[in-house]
Amino acid sequence: MLILIILLVAALVIFGVADIRRNLITKPVFTVFKKILPPLSDTEREAMEAGDVWWDGELFKGKPDWQKLHSFPKAELNAEEQAFMDNQVETLLKMLDDYKIVQEQRDLPEAVWDFVKREGFFAMIIPKAYGGREFSAIANSTIVSRIATRSLTAAVTIMVPNSLGPGELLMHYGTQQQKDFWLPSLANGTDVPCFALTGPEAGSDAGGIPDSGVICKGEFEGKEVVGIRLNWDKRYITLAPVATVLGLAFKLYDPEQLLGDKEELGITCALIPTSHKGVEIGDRHFPMNMAFMNGTTYGKDVFIPLDWIIGGPDYAGRGWRMLVECLSAGRGISLPALATATGHLAARMTGAYGYVRQQFGMSIGKFEGVQESLARIGGLNYSLEAMRVMTAGAIDMKLSPSVVTAIAKYHMTEMSRTLMNDAFDIHAGRAIQVGPKNYLAHGYMGIPISITVEGANILTRNLMIFGQGATRCHPYVLAELEAAANPDAEQGLKQFDNLLIKHIGFATGNTFGALWQGITAGVFNSAPVSGETARYYKQLSRMSRALALSADFAMLILGGELKRREMLSARLGDVLSQLYIASAVLKFYEDSGRQQGDLPFVHYSLQRALFEIGRAFDGFFANFPNRIVARVLRTLVFPFGIGYKMPDDDIAIQICEALSKPGVVRDRLTHLCYVGSDENDATGLMESAFVAMHAAQPLMKKIYQAQRDGTLARKQPLAQTIEQALAAQVISAAEAEQLTKMNTLRFSAISVDSFKAGELEAMALAAANAA
Ligand SMILES: Cc1cc2nc3c(=O)[nH]c(=O)nc-3n(C[C@H](O)[C@H](O)[C@H](O)COP(=O)(O)OP(=O)(O)OC[C@H]3O[C@@H](n4cnc5c(N)ncnc54)[C@H](O)[C@@H]3O)c2cc1C
Repeated sequence: MLILIILLVAALVIFGVADIRRNLITKPVFTVFKKILPPLSDTEREAMEAGDVWWDGELFKGKPDWQKLHSFPKAELNAEEQAFMDNQVETLLKMLDDYKIVQEQRDLPEAVWDFVKREGFFAMIIPKAYGGREFSAIANSTIVSRIATRSLTAAVTIMVPNSLGPGELLMHYGTQQQKDFWLPSLANGTDVPCFALTGPEAGSDAGGIPDSGVICKGEFEGKEVVGIRLNWDKRYITLAPVATVLGLAFKLYDPEQLLGDKEELGITCALIPTSHKGVEIGDRHFPMNMAFMNGTTYGKDVFIPLDWIIGGPDYAGRGWRMLVECLSAGRGISLPALATATGHLAARMTGAYGYVRQQFGMSIGKFEGVQESLARIGGLNYSLEAMRVMTAGAIDMKLSPSVVTAIAKYHMTEMSRTLMNDAFDIHAGRAIQVGPKNYLAHGYMGIPISITVEGANILTRNLMIFGQGATRCHPYVLAELEAAANPDAEQGLKQFDNLLIKHIGFATGNTFGALWQGITAGVFNSAPVSGETARYYKQLSRMSRALALSADFAMLILGGELKRREMLSARLGDVLSQLYIASAVLKFYEDSGRQQGDLPFVHYSLQRALFEIGRAFDGFFANFPNRIVARVLRTLVFPFGIGYKMPDDDIAIQICEALSKPGVVRDRLTHLCYVGSDENDATGLMESAFVAMHAAQPLMKKIYQAQRDGTLARKQPLAQTIEQALAAQVISAAEAEQLTKMNTLRFSAISVDSFKAGELEAMALAAANAA
């Protein structure tokens, strides 16, 4: 007892008396901290400081404030945006024939280019003052998503001017003169922009671009001015083949110190008309056979005036930060919109196909093997829509949350890949045969594009989500790094001392909190709602605490090494991501008015997220190099083992039932899917057959009964059975007509395209001649 009291008094003195604490604890810890966490590079620091911490910060704190999540405004279209959806977007959808665009013309028809330019599809983010539409992020996302269910080529073409590119950069950083000059012509489509960052030597490592600009004197419009001599070689640039204005990223140098005393200014962005002398728009690429414009551009010793730098000479060298900030907003809208489009399309059409297609005498959607895949499509589609809406909502709150948008981009495109594979498996041969009737093939071919652009996914998962997330979202680490970098060592130590006390308190709270919640399985955690979803809030709070604890230990033990141990840190990133996905699902369910019909989808999404969290922790603990710490952490977090499992089969079956019959749940959860108005369109045909087969169910029951009675023969083609049933007065003439129509639709819907001998070769020849 005496020893305990002595220890307690000693601890109180050490931690309570500032001078003693600083000398005995803070100083040595500060020295070790500086050693294990090397200072950030400039590009790392800029990436880290750019953008905002949002709900991700809350998830990292170990105690998410769920009321805060519910208080974020629900992202919705306003009346003007809805009218645009109902009119211009619907008109455009009817103009698009994706088979012709991709397989025959390899370009959008002239009429489509004219329409999208004239109607302001390229101007969704440009303010009205400059002739733009000034739409919200959720409207931008909803429009792109709906178009993508009809034509990926059209969606990508429209999406690019509305995400990272000249328009976005001008609005944030452009001088008034630049805005007045460029924005009106970008808004009305006279100018078409592209943005060129990537080159043969710099893809993921975009900060390492070799393209250069040297400040020098040169001639512009007949006068000698100070400007930039540019050399660049870029590839993969979307819209480059048709662009009239090139946004260019390059490294700027000032060897003669004409601008100031710095010789290396850093990455800079400029806007250059493609008609400017020396600008070369090179060859066109052919990304996965898609028909959107994508190609190369290069230039050798091209001279431009200084005021073509976006933001003017003051912004020389500030390009990296500009790009990181703007990229995170675009990343939260465009690719999530494309991924969600695949979800809506796959869920609606695969649900229908599973009902329409019959084998072994029944709809294939009744086989449990098929249901397992269809349920995954439905569950992932719900998560996709929830994430799409929540992430766009953050951007509409005027935030630029870099970690959250990286999570959205990576996980949503991966979900899209998974569910498209499922849709292909269920459609089988019907999905493989390319032709006008195939509504899945182009979406499937486009998935690797979404995965590759705006930071290829492996990098996004391994470097960005946790790499940035841990430092940015952690309540103290970024501030501690700043204290370590303070040139005034004494001041730095003081700051660090302050933070260290709080950090120790945070870590201690997390240790005991994690253990308590592990022992009690989180049942005493609070939830902001009652009912079926309350338990998920409790589990997510528990896992948030586990993440905060594990991240602290990982940083403490591995320090700077953690950055290189991507397999370990990515698993913690997965935990953070799944916490975000689950939060989005819970918010979406609440914002949608707690629709009872959505519950199987909600359960599926949340149980899957918790299962993935368990799996990520399992891998993290199993591979953490310090085995003692790993065991202690595992025992604290999961004292009785990881209990999370994938959703029950019952939930999967309920999802399949909802997707396999016409109704409000199916309509609401696939509202973005374009469905043609009649059977002359691929999606219209499948939908018509599906609806007709459901409508004919009461008649089919009469027929089955007559077959059981022996009035009608079994095992013969349906057309023959209908004739017999009419003759035997089992059904009326009108009913026979309805069944015949249904049967024709059914057969047409399960049919695939075929081409006459020589037809495909002739098409290829015509395309080659046209080129
Ligand atoms: C169709 C299309 C359109 C595009 N449009 C544009 C555009 O308009 N403008 C523009 O500037 N760019 C554009 N891009 C470029 C795109 O952003 C790059 O392709 C992307 O950043 C990846 O570069 P890379 O293809 O050279 O891959 P690489 O950098 O060669 O990467 C190869 C692999 O290594 C992984 N990797 C690399 N570094 C790491 C790391 N540290 N840790 C873990 N994994 C790592 C990557 O994730 C990837 O899986 C486009 C690309 C495509 C395909």
